[in-house]
Amino acid sequence: MRRRKTVFVDADILVVGGGMSGCGATYESRYWGRDLKIVCVEKANIERSGAVAQGLYAINCYMGMQWNENQPEDHVRYARNDLMGLVREDLGYDIARHVDATVHKFEEWGLPIMRDPETERYQREGKWQIMIHGESYKPIVAEAARKAASEVYNRIMVTHLLLDKRRNRVAGAVGFNVRTGHFYVFRAKAVIVTAGGASHIFKPRAVGEGMGRTWYAPWSSASAYALPILVGATMTQMENRIVLTRFKDGYGPVGAYFLHLKTYTQNAYGQDYETFWRDSIEQLVGDYVNKHPVPTCLRNHALLEEVKAGRGPIRMVTMEAFKDPHKETVGWENFLGMTIGQAVVWASQNIDPKEINPELTTSEPYVMGSHATCSGAWASGPEDCAPSEYQWGYNRMMTVEGLFGGGDAIGGSAHKFSSGSFTEGRIAGKAAVRYVNEIGKERPEVSEAECEDLKKAIYKPMENYAIGRNEIVSGTVSPSYILPIHGLQRLEKIMDEYVGGIGAYYTTNEPLLTRGLELLGMLKEDLEHLGAEDLHQLQRAWELHHRVLASECVTQHTMFRKETRWPGYYYRADHPKLDDKDWHCFTLSRYDRHSGKWELEKAPVYHIID
Ligand SMILES: Cc1cc2nc3c(=O)[nH]c(=O)nc-3n(C[C@H](O)[C@H](O)[C@H](O)COP(=O)(O)OP(=O)(O)OC[C@H]3O[C@@H](n4cnc5c(N)ncnc54)[C@H](O)[C@@H]3O)c2cc1C
Repeated sequence: MRRRKTVFVDADILVVGGGMSGCGATYESRYWGRDLKIVCVEKANIERSGAVAQGLYAINCYMGMQWNENQPEDHVRYARNDLMGLVREDLGYDIARHVDATVHKFEEWGLPIMRDPETERYQREGKWQIMIHGESYKPIVAEAARKAASEVYNRIMVTHLLLDKRRNRVAGAVGFNVRTGHFYVFRAKAVIVTAGGASHIFKPRAVGEGMGRTWYAPWSSASAYALPILVGATMTQMENRIVLTRFKDGYGPVGAYFLHLKTYTQNAYGQDYETFWRDSIEQLVGDYVNKHPVPTCLRNHALLEEVKAGRGPIRMVTMEAFKDPHKETVGWENFLGMTIGQAVVWASQNIDPKEINPELTTSEPYVMGSHATCSGAWASGPEDCAPSEYQWGYNRMMTVEGLFGGGDAIGGSAHKFSSGSFTEGRIAGKAAVRYVNEIGKERPEVSEAECEDLKKAIYKPMENYAIGRNEIVSGTVSPSYILPIHGLQRLEKIMDEYVGGIGAYYTTNEPLLTRGLELLGMLKEDLEHLGAEDLHQLQRAWELHHRVLASECVTQHTMFRKETRWPGYYYRADHPKLDDKDWHCFTLSRYDRHSGKWELEKAPVYHIID
């Protein structure tokens, strides 16, 4: 085996992932921990990493308390309704009460926020959204984190967390530099995981040359879930995958179109179809369909049923709005600051929204914790408002001592978006500083033998390739290894066909899930034979490991919840209705990495806001 340099880094607080939440965690840790060593480690470069890499056009979570526009309680009610009753209200309330202060900081740091010329308030796009000139949103936020951190390590893919060799508490993390190949051991008193959500676990609509085109960032590789799962952290709501209605082929956002441009949808025959489906949806989910706004998944459901009834494609009616030059500009700018690809797709498909109403479609499912969905780790809540059953330590600490999280990593708290994720990172950072101060000089101990074993395991795909390439039969194909891209495509196919992806109209049942788990088990065995020809492929190999473990967790949760709570996100055909009597609860799972077994249980949902 080629010798690789090992670099040891000691820290008080280690932040894994420098996206929105990671930048918030780094910034706030410094504020409360002036003398602490705060290290942020990121697989890309925090300047342009994560889901906000290419910028945003709106901040989707802003209360506007200074103008009495909304109160935190209103946001909890909104998120609870959208998630059909199941949110951690303590976590959501905690974010909502602090998020405005975060947005004010962004503005202070140079983010241009649009203002209403008449009221001089922030320009609203909708009840919760404000409009920004956000092409440089991420670099602005990253600058604050860079100045706050003791050290930022870019280009390091974190593969595993480390536990204290004496007890169940976190001790750091390991990974490798994707450019130099050096092995890194980070030893820390507290770790905050903020490594983003998961795309590419279900087969995407765009395959082949278009496979990089997904709605959630293609580099969101489920590390935020796999890292805590591997050390035994309890997870929640992993069945609550998200499906988005977006402009076809480019995944361009529709929020500004609906809310600001006041465009609307219709079927292929120019009819408003949502009302057709109201009664049948009521039979499935009861009164949730009568709530305002109608939950996101139910709007997806109406679209899907309409297409299944043969009256597709569904179109966004843009031709009226785009006659107004101001609205036309806003429509295009909305893409140029956030999803340039959609503008390019329209240009390449001869779509001028002034002349043609563009098609909408539903995306493949993603797993994330910060949008209209709330998969992630089960976290301890805020001391002043979390019910006692949701409190076992410090705010945002997972069920492993010293391990914190924010953004997509934390479950149960939907609708945080970019500003709420940064805010949750801040909350986690503050709590982690308190934890570190309270444990004082006592440092967790890392097992040297474990680090050596992990080092061997991490570079194994390169060894597999070095040996297996001697048997290449054609191109890069060898009987002795599988390439990361092949493993990824196999994963996507399993998830699509058995766990409710686009190919199955988001539908699954117990026999399908059972077979899906068997096939995932075989895929896991084959991951031992991954082959990586260079460091780039080694990163792909570990991203695949993380995606597979997160997928297994999603499948276990989907099997456990015997109802269809979120039609439009996924369907359990064997339990087609919402069942509030038995399933108005969270699902929790815990993985045992030694036995490979999962344990699942229910946890109560407490409504602390009326
Ligand atoms: C297309 C799109 C449109 C959106 N629109 C809006 C909008 O209009 N308004 C809004 O407010 N929000 C919007 N969002 C949501 C917002 O971007 C997310 O809620 C937010 O970025 C989540 O923050 P996070 O820190 O959890 O994840 P991210 O910001 O994605 O950060 C995760 C970080 O972890 C790093 N990482 C991952 N794995 C590893 C690893 N193994 N080792 C080291 N580093 C790792 C990643 O590179 C990344 O930097 C949108 C998102 C997308 C994708």
